[in-house]
Amino acid sequence: MTALVMGHMNPDTDSIISAIAVADLNNKRGISAKAGAQGEPTPETKFVLEKFGLTAPEVVTDVAGKKMYLVDYSDLAQAPKGIGEAEILGIVDHHKLGDVTTSNPLEIWTWPVGCSCTVIKSMYDFYGVEIPKNIAGGLLCAILSDTVMFKSPTCTEADKKAVEALAKIAGVSDVMALGMEMFKVKSAVEGASMKDLVFRDYKDFDMNGNKVGIGQLEVVDLSILDKVKDGLYEEITRVKGEGRHSVFLLLTDIMKEGSEMLIVSDDPAVVEKAFGKKPEGKSVWLDGVMSRKKQVVPNFEKAFK
Ligand code: MG
Ligand code: MG
Ligand code: MG
Repeated sequence: MTALVMGHMNPDTDSIISAIAVADLNNKRGISAKAGAQGEPTPETKFVLEKFGLTAPEVVTDVAGKKMYLVDYSDLAQAPKGIGEAEILGIVDHHKLGDVTTSNPLEIWTWPVGCSCTVIKSMYDFYGVEIPKNIAGGLLCAILSDTVMFKSPTCTEADKKAVEALAKIAGVSDVMALGMEMFKVKSAVEGASMKDLVFRDYKDFDMNGNKVGIGQLEVVDLSILDKVKDGLYEEITRVKGEGRHSVFLLLTDIMKEGSEMLIVSDDPAVVEKAFGKKPEGKSVWLDGVMSRKKQVVPNFEKAFK
């Protein structure tokens, strides 16, 4: 049976490119595999796919009875329907270990680096498989995206080294110019609904029994979001109303290197508890905060205990 390689819900560039690359590598190792995705690519990911001539993976919503490789997550909350009836053959990730369990031994590659694609670059090297030029371009962009062009505190030396090597394979001479071009595409809000924007990069977490949603929009200049901020607030208020304790939306300015966090919560005091800063009205500015995974989720997890 062909194994399905798939990333998390509301897929980002890392989830999509990781699925494409691990499927390619597995096929070359003699393991029949196919990339899938839990949703359509975002404008940023579309830009990357088009730039390097890659095809968007097929959208799959139910994986019951399938053989699976998970990429860029290992949390059941991020998994597709039917995951309990699927057989997990492997995990490639760079997040904290989640709550997925298996009945058989599996292949796990999970490293504390800035992007799953950095791990995948090393997997190709380990198995002695040449990285195709177009996949190298995709991997490179995913690393630039996840590490916010090396500015995120999640970025490691391994990510920078991987980008350097991948740029040579992909024939990219100016990595930072390509990154800026990609983040400009990511920053565009025209034509997107408020729901699209909130869920473009959104994750639910279980924090001490409370359902907490945290979304993030990364832009090259926060003023781009001025005209949609009220609409975004209305939308997260609606999302909170679906049975969540809190919904937070990080509006990250990648040049100023900080985030304005929009807040809707049953207990707004958790924000001050988590960050030591009192919200002004509906939001708070968090200087230096760029990573949900490293600077936001752990703080809230402590505050909710
Ligand atoms: Mg991701
Ligand atoms: Mg990632
Ligand atoms: Mg991200």
